[in-house]
Amino acid sequence: MALGLVFGLIASALSWQPFVTDFIKPIGTIFIKLLKLIAIPLILASLIKGVSDLQDISRFSKMGVRTLALYIGTTVLAISIGLIAVNIIQPGKAVSTETVESLSAAFGQDMEAKVSTANQAKDSGPLQFVVDMVPDNIFGAASNNGNMLQVIFFAVFFGIALLLIKKEDAQPVMAFINGLNEAIMKMVDLIMLMAPYAVFALLAALVTETSNPELFKALAWYMFAVVIGLICMLGVYAVLVYFFAKKSPSFFFKGIAPAQLLAFSTSSSAATLPVTMERVEEHLGVDKEVVSFVCPVGATVNMDGTSLYQAVAAVFICEALKFDLTFSDQMTIILTATLASIGSAAVPGAGMVMLVIVLESLGLPANSLAIGLALIFAVDRPLDMMRTVVNVTGDCAVAMIIARSFGKLHEPKERKLDDYYKEAPLA
Ligand code: ASP
Repeated sequence: MALGLVFGLIASALSWQPFVTDFIKPIGTIFIKLLKLIAIPLILASLIKGVSDLQDISRFSKMGVRTLALYIGTTVLAISIGLIAVNIIQPGKAVSTETVESLSAAFGQDMEAKVSTANQAKDSGPLQFVVDMVPDNIFGAASNNGNMLQVIFFAVFFGIALLLIKKEDAQPVMAFINGLNEAIMKMVDLIMLMAPYAVFALLAALVTETSNPELFKALAWYMFAVVIGLICMLGVYAVLVYFFAKKSPSFFFKGIAPAQLLAFSTSSSAATLPVTMERVEEHLGVDKEVVSFVCPVGATVNMDGTSLYQAVAAVFICEALKFDLTFSDQMTIILTATLASIGSAAVPGAGMVMLVIVLESLGLPANSLAIGLALIFAVDRPLDMMRTVVNVTGDCAVAMIIARSFGKLHEPKERKLDDYYKEAPLA
């Protein structure tokens, strides 16, 4: 990562952008594609296995309820931290009217498209997201990585059915799913051999393609508020893990570091999922049974970093556009940002699209909305990278706590993947 950063800076200085885009970036792109390629089969195999391994249906509902409660609880906590940070720092006050004007002139049009995408999501009534969760065709659902929730629905449903049929009928299906799962995990191992080179390529391409450092200065306080909030959230996980999973923060963070690094360089919880699962199981000692249920669901549903960012961004935009927010408006943010983060796809930039819903619920007029998004757009990528790290960390923390509460947290056993890491020391 550091080498990629340095290389990117040098390449920008020497105007090597075309070379980086043509020959370095593809390595990163291929890597992300490979990770996305196995996301759907991984979710299918591991969730079906996860649910059907639970032995009986009451265990499943207990774990499901606990997991969702923790996910929602940490999300609300994250939003509250974001609101506290942004209210103390008040970054919107530091933005001049000229900055608002020049940014909206530069990015205004791009934003209209984002607003309309979000409106499609919003126009369709409060229960639409439940309706959308139910696929009408499993192949249709599995053919689009954006339909992760539909695939999860099918997998859980299928897993429950396996629990309910006769053992000897379920047996061959489970053996098959088991083998499938193992093979997919092996694919992850193999793809990860590429990780150091891919991370280098991703960072180098990002640095050479990012322009205009001036904007970063204008938005420095806003970025600061988001980053401070995200760091506090990491602290919250450390405390939660310490008290509820009885493990030290250093054990926790060391165990998941590669997943965090990957989240940072890909900006996608979905692309990171295979590695998240591997780390949580092999290095934090969480039982497979818990990992296969908690992690895939978390990658799509639990986005603490995203919701925290949405809260900060919403307040920042309103402040910069001189749109007054009352206390009850801030409570509205807690509610809508929770829902919006659940609805955000686990891909780069999704959090920003769903931010529109939060802003609209505050009554921000449509033209201000586009200007508001334009205002934060320039620095969204680096913030996306950081909030994705928090999203992934949150899933890992919850997995550990759930595992502990079911007596499913063991001493981790090292596996062969580490040998790969030794061969590829940068990972
Ligand atoms: N990139 C984030 C993720 O995949 C979502 C977002 O906040 O844009 O977790």
